Amino acid sequence: MAVTCVRVPREEGEATRKRLAERDAIAEEYEITVEDGYLYIPLSEEVDRAALEEGYEVVDRELERRETQTLPADPLGFEPSYERLGDIAIVDEDDDERAREIAEAIVASDLPVETVVNRASPIEGELRVRQWDVLVGERTETVHREYGSAFELDIEEVYFSPRLATERHRVVEQVAADERFFDMFAGVGPFVIPAAKRGADCVGVDLNEVAVEYLRRNAERNGVADRVTAIHGDVRDVEGFDDWADRIVMNLPHSADEFLETAVALADEDCVVHYYDIQPDSDPFGPGERAIRAAAEPDYEMTVENRRTVRSYAPHESNVCLDVRLQR
Ligand code: SAM
Repeated sequence: MAVTCVRVPREEGEATRKRLAERDAIAEEYEITVEDGYLYIPLSEEVDRAALEEGYEVVDRELERRETQTLPADPLGFEPSYERLGDIAIVDEDDDERAREIAEAIVASDLPVETVVNRASPIEGELRVRQWDVLVGERTETVHREYGSAFELDIEEVYFSPRLATERHRVVEQVAADERFFDMFAGVGPFVIPAAKRGADCVGVDLNEVAVEYLRRNAERNGVADRVTAIHGDVRDVEGFDDWADRIVMNLPHSADEFLETAVALADEDCVVHYYDIQPDSDPFGPGERAIRAAAEPDYEMTVENRRTVRSYAPHESNVCLDVRLQR
């Protein structure tokens, strides 16, 4: 069967395999194969192929299935679709019976999964939390690993999307040591923690008190508590950081425009803002650009440094990111 793979020279194979494993990007059900001095590492279906292509050579290739591992597809006779968040597997099935059948097959397999949940609601409310049907197991708290950082979180209490791993990594790779990094909607810290690991002085704010508690714990767990200030509250009410930030992350698509006045107040003389938005494919960047310009000018000159489509959100709608530089 043709499988999407990363192709790397053999001598880079182990390092690449490790990096991909940290992103949960490897399809465990296929054998990694060596041919003509190259390693072919199979990629899981959830991985964002377009994003990977920026860093790796991605090819389609015939690969053997692993024989030794029992996988969910073995008893089911079809390939179920699921996401992994630590030792929790997440399915998205409308039919409860089918969801339970898949859940049983997942826990019976050799995958390191303790809990299986089905999506029971859209992401809702100000805190952006979803409801779940717990199909197998009890615990909804887990530790998820992403690019070498570990995030403790409870999916019933906080927002977290493993699908954004590549996008977060893209942003964090731009962070310089000693810069001042402000995440206005920090959640459990998937931007803040790796930014602090790069040496940035970080502030993370969230309205969800439980998320802020996890952010504090994750700063400890990852050894960066001395560089992370975690604040619970509405970011519009936070005081003491005017003209402070060299970089601001605004990951609250749908309503980030309501927070632009605050972002501009937080920005120092030269500040990059990563502004997430969800807009129709007919004009995915225009509304964000206009809103930022209206909030920033004339005090700041605004330059759009990057217009990036993160993923498709719904038919004809995309989740996008604008990287914008504000200079006073
Ligand atoms: N940045 C995190 C991530 O990538 O996983 C979380 C992003 S989540 C889409 C948005 C977060 O914004 C939620 O955790 C929510 O609680 C928080 N939030 C919503 N309104 C807020 C506000 N007025 N001030 C601070 N945080 C807020």
